[in-house]
Amino acid sequence: MSITTDWAALYEDLHRHPELSFEENRTAGIVADSLRESGFEVETGVGRTGVVGVMRNGDGPTVLVRADMDALPVTEDTGLAYSSTVEGVAHACGHDVHVTCLLAACAELATSRDTWAGTLLAVFQPAEELILGARAMLDDGLYERYGTPSVVLGQHVAPMPAGTIGLHTGPAFAAVDGLRITMHGSGGHGSSPHTTVDPVVMAASTVMRLQTVVSREVDPAQTAVVTVGRLEAGTKSNIIPDQARMDLSIRTYQDDVRARVLAAVERIVKGEAATAGAPRDPEIVITESGDAVVNDPAACEATRPALESIGALVLDPGAVSGSEDVGLFATAAGSPCVYWLLGGADPALFEGLTTVRQFVEKVASLPSNHSPRFAPVPQPTLDVGRSALVAAARHWLPVG
Ligand code: ZN
Ligand code: ZN
Repeated sequence: MSITTDWAALYEDLHRHPELSFEENRTAGIVADSLRESGFEVETGVGRTGVVGVMRNGDGPTVLVRADMDALPVTEDTGLAYSSTVEGVAHACGHDVHVTCLLAACAELATSRDTWAGTLLAVFQPAEELILGARAMLDDGLYERYGTPSVVLGQHVAPMPAGTIGLHTGPAFAAVDGLRITMHGSGGHGSSPHTTVDPVVMAASTVMRLQTVVSREVDPAQTAVVTVGRLEAGTKSNIIPDQARMDLSIRTYQDDVRARVLAAVERIVKGEAATAGAPRDPEIVITESGDAVVNDPAACEATRPALESIGALVLDPGAVSGSEDVGLFATAAGSPCVYWLLGGADPALFEGLTTVRQFVEKVASLPSNHSPRFAPVPQPTLDVGRSALVAAARHWLPVG
């Protein structure tokens, strides 16, 4: 593979062969081959299935450009000719777009070394969907081996029109906390509730009370999400079970809001158990934890002209309530993060729209990331994504 590689064909191949988190072996092999062909020094198996490509091009800073590689346990329903061939697994978050764009950008930068100076660190990360891959690569000595980058760059495809780029400064992606809660009752016959402590009622009451965390405890000028995505108790209508389990997903943008929401959830869960006369305290286990992605305002403003120079319309899409672990690379380096959204929706769907409201409603009506129907248009998405990475990298790796 090289600058002459058929990137659209590579994208379709990756899309046909999605791999789940930490199982990106085939993808990693393709990435490594492509980087080697472009002249990069390549290391595989970094953070289990991660791949690093390094190109040293004289004196200058080190710039980290990141793509994630994993797919999702989703059954694709796009009807595309190049749909997933793997049962129950699909690139429903578009990480195949990210991989293709970064490989193409690496190839372009490798053949234009007179246009930049310094060290380009191309990081292909596993397991973003588990919020574990960035941590795995850092723990595996990424910066000890390759140096600490002065900036972290990357992009995520989203259902905005292809040709647009979304850049939001400050907290751009939410922090995520996943909790598994087990509430204990005392089971018995469904006909004799007075001899039991019913964990179903306890859990139902807890779910309702949790709705007051955002509405009553979070500053109206701030925002948060508290979702009970799973609630499970009992086996049969006439048996009162011993326990109820629930899984929560919590999203916040500010550290103080995050601390307050987590404290409120713990207080409510324990309080509802005590109110119901639970025989023992509930257990709360953290199943997932990731920090917000905070885009550095000065670094974003410095990068914006580069993104605009490729002809893309750069707009502010606001903060995203989804989560991402790309920010860990920046936090660990003590360096700014510049992470943008790459439009991937068919521009024709937006023709004739004249107001921001129409635009926002159209975006909301399209299949979102993680939907079985999420289907970015390969072009101009891939070209814009490659050009954006190249332009941003050149900005941070100036000659002379
Ligand atoms: Zn995702
Ligand atoms: Zn994603």
